[in-house]
Amino acid sequence: MKTAKNRRFRYLAIAVWIGLALAVSSCRTAGTAQEEKADCRVQTAETENVLIYTKNGDGHVHDNIAASVECLKKICAANGWTCLAADDASIFTADKIKAFDVLVFSNTNNETFDTEEQKKVFADYIRNGGGFVGIHSACGSERQWPWFWANLGGKFVRHPPLQPFDIRVIDKEHPSTRHLPDTWKWEDECYFINELNPAIHLLMAVDLRTVKDPQKDTYPGRVFGDYFPLAWYQEFDGGRQWYTALGHKIEHYSDENFVRHLTGGIRWAMQKKHTQTEK
Ligand SMILES: [Zn+2]
Repeated sequence: MKTAKNRRFRYLAIAVWIGLALAVSSCRTAGTAQEEKADCRVQTAETENVLIYTKNGDGHVHDNIAASVECLKKICAANGWTCLAADDASIFTADKIKAFDVLVFSNTNNETFDTEEQKKVFADYIRNGGGFVGIHSACGSERQWPWFWANLGGKFVRHPPLQPFDIRVIDKEHPSTRHLPDTWKWEDECYFINELNPAIHLLMAVDLRTVKDPQKDTYPGRVFGDYFPLAWYQEFDGGRQWYTALGHKIEHYSDENFVRHLTGGIRWAMQKKHTQTEK
């Protein structure tokens, strides 16, 4: 068993190593044509580093991705976090991914990784204490991989047409929700999700009585009474995960309440550092 002093020393050593490695180039060069170079501030050991990941497989691709990336870059810049935007799964090598404190899957959908090795790198990252944020259609990613559903907290089923509905903010203590009213009136696609991980801590839920959907009696029915989960956090399999089903519209990514919702989620998920040398 390691002592706290040893752990602190190891953290320091890792932080110094990362700092030195990153300081060699204050502005990292993108690894592939698809990776966009983000904010080029000088990175220090204290700087949190965010991966903004937007890969989509075959199927529906959201038109909000560019707006979401811009929004997330602004969030990172405003909070002093560095970031890299990528839509190529080749970023998922053990060497590359360890540089990030949180992986933000913004409107990823369908096949989100190309190889089993990339999936293993992702799972190992989480199991070693990594942070994960899923936005909107991220819950439709990797529809054949049960561990991915458990990591996100659930799996996309369907949504009725985009419409206004009421959201009940259940946990107002969390950084992603404390700025919101008790009932948040919002227009979006109301996602219905299954395979819900019982580990999730609910942050907000849609009031189903305000949703026009002839199929809602079939699913979700009354599994959660008049409500259904829309955003949550959890600590699953060693990692920290935060998910919001909201965010279909381009306009959402310039909505102050939504931007603060995302900011709080990312801030929460990045809190725990990598601990691969601690296990
Ligand atoms: Zn959508």
